[in-house]
Amino acid sequence: MKCTVCGDEIRGKPYSFNYKGNTYYFCSPMCMAEFKKRPEKYVK
Ligand SMILES: [Zn+2]
Repeated sequence: MKCTVCGDEIRGKPYSFNYKGNTYYFCSPMCMAEFKKRPEKYVK
């Protein structure tokens, strides 16, 4: 599984966030915060 924001492989427990009915996964709280700031940049 790869981080939605930085594209790195996620090791261990991912951080997840639900946005418009889809769940996205992140490697760190920083990447999750970045997604929350600009979700439209990462959602296709
Ligand atoms: Zn990341």
